[in-house]
Amino acid sequence: MLVGIGPGSHDHMTHRARAAIAEADVVVGYVTYIKLVADLLEGKEVIRKGMTEELDRAVHALASAREGKKVALISSGDAGVYGMAGPTYEVLFQAGWTPESDVEVEVVPGASAINACAALVGAPLTHDFCSISLSDLLTPWPVIARRLDAVAAADFVVALYNPKSGRRTQQIVQAQHLFLRHRRPDTPVAVVKSAYRRRERIEFTTLEHMSECDIGMLTTVLIGNSNTFVRHGLMVTPRGYANKYELHGDGSTREGERAGRSLSTGLLGWMENLRIDHAEGEGIAALALRHKLPADYIESVLAAPVLEPAAQEEAARTEESEA
Ligand code: SAH
Repeated sequence: MLVGIGPGSHDHMTHRARAAIAEADVVVGYVTYIKLVADLLEGKEVIRKGMTEELDRAVHALASAREGKKVALISSGDAGVYGMAGPTYEVLFQAGWTPESDVEVEVVPGASAINACAALVGAPLTHDFCSISLSDLLTPWPVIARRLDAVAAADFVVALYNPKSGRRTQQIVQAQHLFLRHRRPDTPVAVVKSAYRRRERIEFTTLEHMSECDIGMLTTVLIGNSNTFVRHGLMVTPRGYANKYELHGDGSTREGERAGRSLSTGLLGWMENLRIDHAEGEGIAALALRHKLPADYIESVLAAPVLEPAAQEEAARTEESEA
């Protein structure tokens, strides 16, 4: 069993995670995580491993399972997020294991650091987000830098895992440089250390000052998108409703928009306007530039057959009656 134990407090561990550890004959894990579940370990074989012995842990777990023992391999957060699930499957496949063979595998999901840290600072993940690990121990820096550049440009909310360690101090500075090429210096940033653990610390800052913060191995850095704001000590990313509904009035829809429908800038509305602009003389290159989309995509949209308004209305009516 590959068990994600959540951020590090009992209350935030799932029932299944506790049960899996309780069921196990052998519990394997990094020392810190073993300590977090100390109360569940009586009478069990406990194997404490160091940070760099990931594959050892997986190999050992497989050996014990083959002896007929139930093994819980514990990871902090979610076992599949920069955790033990990947390396374990790699070891299993190398040993010729298949899902049909004698050793059964279960991945027990847990709240990952991104979920824990987001909950502590407010609601930063309400719109599209992604996570990037700044650890270059197994990933070449250009790969990491390319992803940072791409998500910064694409306006994702981003969680940076493994942002800094004693030896890796410059990665966060480089990440900041790459982000500042696309985002405003005052973009909100939350630096969350040891979420739901004893030394928990939350610091709000901005992209411009992010690298000056106290960041370490147990920190996750949350960078907002261009709409994210901080109010009353809470970091919030709006879902975009403000574009469609009047938030402070009676909640009615804004002029030109309809409840329960895509925005006029949604796919169909956008396509229609694209065709109009193109018919009025705006070239493909100009449209591509204005919408920040590849020219061949614009071209293929313009080349696609037009769905007649009547057919659209019909489709919408069916959708409404289905709802
Ligand atoms: N499997 C884990 C991630 C392991 S990678 C998960 O799903 O959360 C280790 C990184 O996770 C750390 O460098 C830090 O960025 C983040 N992290 C893990 N626990 C954390 C916590 N309690 N508070 C803040 N960040 C944490």
